[in-house]
Amino acid sequence: MTQKSSNVVWHRSTVSREARAERNGHNSLVLWFTGLSASGKSTLAHAVEDSLHKLGCNTFVLDGDNVRHGLCSDLGFSLEDREENLRRIGEVSKLMVEAGVIVLTAFISPMRKDRERVRSLFPHGDFIEIFCDAGLEVCEQRDPKGLYKRARAGEIAEFTGISSPYEPPVNPEIRCDTGSQEVADNVAQVLGILRENGVISA
Ligand code: ADP
Repeated sequence: MTQKSSNVVWHRSTVSREARAERNGHNSLVLWFTGLSASGKSTLAHAVEDSLHKLGCNTFVLDGDNVRHGLCSDLGFSLEDREENLRRIGEVSKLMVEAGVIVLTAFISPMRKDRERVRSLFPHGDFIEIFCDAGLEVCEQRDPKGLYKRARAGEIAEFTGISSPYEPPVNPEIRCDTGSQEVADNVAQVLGILRENGVISA
């Protein structure tokens, strides 16, 4: 999006991101969970947050339903609105990473180009794409909120996987089999990779 005002100057904080990381005892970054509705993004993001919190990390989950009540309450589910939704989430995530927080986002984020645009906001290594890989059949069977049923009945338009596309990540940093594995196994996988990458030490 282009900037409307040209009289805005970025104020550089004297407390650097590095200083915050040193005080917190961990680096900040984004864990970006993507996948179909009911693939397990929220469940896994909150479970990973829980573990990180217990390890003493500063964390926050940005969840699809929650931001749509406030920050993005003016947006719908057209591809255009989804794009703007993710642009805002990306910018909020960037501010929170700057503030030293490990941000976990749970959004379908169906289009590759939108995810890549968010990725491009961050230095290399600070955006970890986590593909919650559960097939449409499994998701539709789970249907915890009855949304697939309503979408099939034509009551919800532009529903991902039914009447709106989902482009799976080609090369995500992490692919979790959330279709047939236990949540605890997925959490262990994510934490293992964060340890390998030096994000957490314990
Ligand atoms: P999303 O945020 O992708 O829409 P939710 O996390 O709200 O999905 O719902 C996923 C459902 O699948 C939950 O009812 C959860 O208990 C179930 N589930 C089963 N196995 C897993 C798994 N390995 N990871 C995440 N969720 C799982």
